[in-house]
Amino acid sequence: MQREVIDGVPVLWSAAPGPLEAALVFGHGASDETFRTIGVTHLVEHLAMSTLPRLHHEHNASVSLTVTDFSVSGTDEQVVDFLAAVCKALAALPVDRIEREAGVLAAEASGVIDPVTAELLSARYGTVGAGLASWGGPGPDRIAVEAVRETVARSFHAGNAVLLLTGPPPPALRLPLPPGERPERGGAQPVMSPGPHWVVANVPGPGLALHADLDGAALTAAHAVLQERLRQVLRHREGLSYDVDGARVHTGGGLGEFTVVVDARAGQQRRVAEILWREALRLAAEGMTEAELAEEVAGFREVWLDPRALPAELGQAGACLLSNIPYQDATARLDALAAVDPDGARQAFAAALRTALLVVPEDVEVELAQPDGAPLTEGGCAHPRGGELPSGGRHFKPPMFARLRFPQARTARLVLTDDAVWSRDGRGDVHHLPFADVVGVEVNGPGRVLFGRGNCATPVVPELFAGIGEAVAAIDAGVPKELHYELSAFAESDEDEGEAAPAPVSKASRR
Ligand SMILES: [Zn+2]
Repeated sequence: MQREVIDGVPVLWSAAPGPLEAALVFGHGASDETFRTIGVTHLVEHLAMSTLPRLHHEHNASVSLTVTDFSVSGTDEQVVDFLAAVCKALAALPVDRIEREAGVLAAEASGVIDPVTAELLSARYGTVGAGLASWGGPGPDRIAVEAVRETVARSFHAGNAVLLLTGPPPPALRLPLPPGERPERGGAQPVMSPGPHWVVANVPGPGLALHADLDGAALTAAHAVLQERLRQVLRHREGLSYDVDGARVHTGGGLGEFTVVVDARAGQQRRVAEILWREALRLAAEGMTEAELAEEVAGFREVWLDPRALPAELGQAGACLLSNIPYQDATARLDALAAVDPDGARQAFAAALRTALLVVPEDVEVELAQPDGAPLTEGGCAHPRGGELPSGGRHFKPPMFARLRFPQARTARLVLTDDAVWSRDGRGDVHHLPFADVVGVEVNGPGRVLFGRGNCATPVVPELFAGIGEAVAAIDAGVPKELHYELSAFAESDEDEGEAAPAPVSKASRR
């Protein structure tokens, strides 16, 4: 891998056959946003791309959890022109197009990562950083132009970029970006839920996340063995799943999540979740054979040494550079894997399993045990289950008509104290949301919906609670103005969905 610097931007390149591929990568992704500014990075990307003329060669732009990249492949001249145009656009972003591009984002409605992994991240980290992945936030039309300007000024400059190329830089290549300092990104993100827990979310199938050092070779090997065993059992033996997928998701400072995501045939989600957990326990207890381990190491060797993996390898090196973490090349990673023995892999997996989060679809309840036989408890914003509302404070009940018609409304309560709102939902669970933990307040006429950093969403709306004027006034006074926003014009109306019981929501993923 060759290194040079062009216009203040580090360039990593390695020669590969085929047309020149380039990716201009910035060290800013969706996990650098806040709840209030969810989507601002995607909006910056769209505004920049909206300035380009129609192009017939391959080009794209995307936002991941940790980086934003603008990529192109074609002739030297096409690559040079594309990169110059992107840099110029970022240096003078057409913010007058913000309204139109917000509409485009609403239509695109894409998540930054698959929905199961997104929910696992939210369960682990709360409504902050990587944990924002499952949340839609205020909506693209509620992103302030100041947030767009601030994001570009902070992160989209030469000091926070790297250019990746699959060939030597063309002599005419220029990267006319403004200079800047790489922003402090805070290292490892604090964990909200250390696990082990199972959690319920709006997901199509179960998933598992283990929190660990992502460069650990022993756990990397065990993670691969687990996926292969699940493929054998869930797909080939039982015919319950089509796809078993694993990933390593960086959340800062070299740490992150080893994930396994499995889909499930309709009606089989509970069974698939149980098998996923059972196989994880079995791997932690009994380990693996030499042959299973060797098979996975051979698989990594084939994939990582394939010449077609070069763009991905450059991408890893670039991401490490932008996050100030050391990059290990494929050979070094394979050497580390070759030194792993089955018991080392088993021990690494057993240690990581203590951090397990198992997500299951709504309406699925599981009864599972930890390796020591203790029950695996349910996590989530209202847990441990069975909390009590404070006896003091001001109590609000659902309107009389709701209490008569909906059984859930009979238990629902809202309590306002000096520095928090408490609520009991239709399930009987108590949620405590201090004003200091609020990350967003949706203003919807006379009502408010509060979103807290621990994935807690508390509706304070007249449809659910009677006489809320005093609570709304306290919320407006207790939570900073800049966290308030009007309900998005793109928010889906519930009007066509028939008569639903008004139960407070505990988790409202709005993607
Ligand atoms: Zn809650």
